[in-house]
Amino acid sequence: MNLNNIEMIKDVIIIGTGPAGFTAALYCARADLKPLIFEGKQPGGQLTITTDVENYPGFPEGILGPDLMDNFRNQAKRFGTEILNLNIDKVDLSKKPFRLWSGDKEFLCKSVIISTGATAKLLGLDSEKKLMGYGVSACATCDGFFFKDKKVFVVGGGDSAIEEAMFLTKFASSVTIIHRRDKLRASKIMQDKALNNEKIDFIWNSSVTDMIGEPNDGGLKSVILSNIITNESKEVTCDGLFLGIGHKPNSDIFIGQIVLDDNGYIQTNKGSTETSVKGVFAAGDIMDSIYRQAITAAGSGCMAALDAERYLENL
Ligand code: NAP
Repeated sequence: MNLNNIEMIKDVIIIGTGPAGFTAALYCARADLKPLIFEGKQPGGQLTITTDVENYPGFPEGILGPDLMDNFRNQAKRFGTEILNLNIDKVDLSKKPFRLWSGDKEFLCKSVIISTGATAKLLGLDSEKKLMGYGVSACATCDGFFFKDKKVFVVGGGDSAIEEAMFLTKFASSVTIIHRRDKLRASKIMQDKALNNEKIDFIWNSSVTDMIGEPNDGGLKSVILSNIITNESKEVTCDGLFLGIGHKPNSDIFIGQIVLDDNGYIQTNKGSTETSVKGVFAAGDIMDSIYRQAITAAGSGCMAALDAERYLENL
């Protein structure tokens, strides 16, 4: 089949509109590939649930997360990116052209860039949702700076929680890890680091059952801790709470279609964004469990666009 004869087949479809997806779209659009991008369930991605972003280069005064993502969107659109406010819920990457579905609507393409991101795991409390960005955060690298000389809590007992806690010791006056068991899950080396760090305390066998404070009145003020063994609850004041209970890559629809690692992240070839399926590329947090920054996601989005462009040239 000569794919070039079929007009309805897009050159490239991008799934997901975080920094990776929009950067891929910008580069694809400027290469005249007329990309189609699907916004997904969280248009703009994780930055839309943060407030100030101070570590994205080019904004010396900082910028609000939602504003930064509006800029990304407008820049991709300016060069002709077609943006659809739909979520892709099924794909068939087993043959070409690739087939993607949003409900019963079907889309065909020669190449795909997957930038569906990852979702920070949350505790699921209503108060947590309300105070996200107002004292509650799931990213110490992004928000730690705002907690200079403040008292902060970190929830979790794995490597993520320890990493968040270690980072926060640079700013906070005290860092307390709240863990639901009496043992850490983190690797031995990380455990040793945390247990030997004078600035880090632990509250064991405890979970956070509520968060107290109002977004328009100073944000988080205290949390309710419940001891899992004694069932006793108490209110403890704090200025910030960081969730370090892990991330879930948004890769469910790709299970069985491309190679994922043990944690569900898409595996890419070293130094490129190629996946196990030729013509399918992955960028951003969906393939990066290590750096997880807007700037690294944007960088890999650029790489994915260049990889896709080269792939299409050689079809
Ligand atoms: P993880 O290893 O799954 O640990 C998650 C932690 O959060 C566990 O301690 C878990 O408690 C706790 N938790 C989960 N759901 C909870 C809930 N609803 N309420 C309270 N606590 C909850 O996740 P991770 O720390 O993100 O690590 C994921 C993978 O990435 C691991 O392989 C890790 O080694 C790797 N990683 C490595 C580094 C590094 O090397 N620098 C940094 C980050 C991550 P339980 O212990 O009771 O299950």
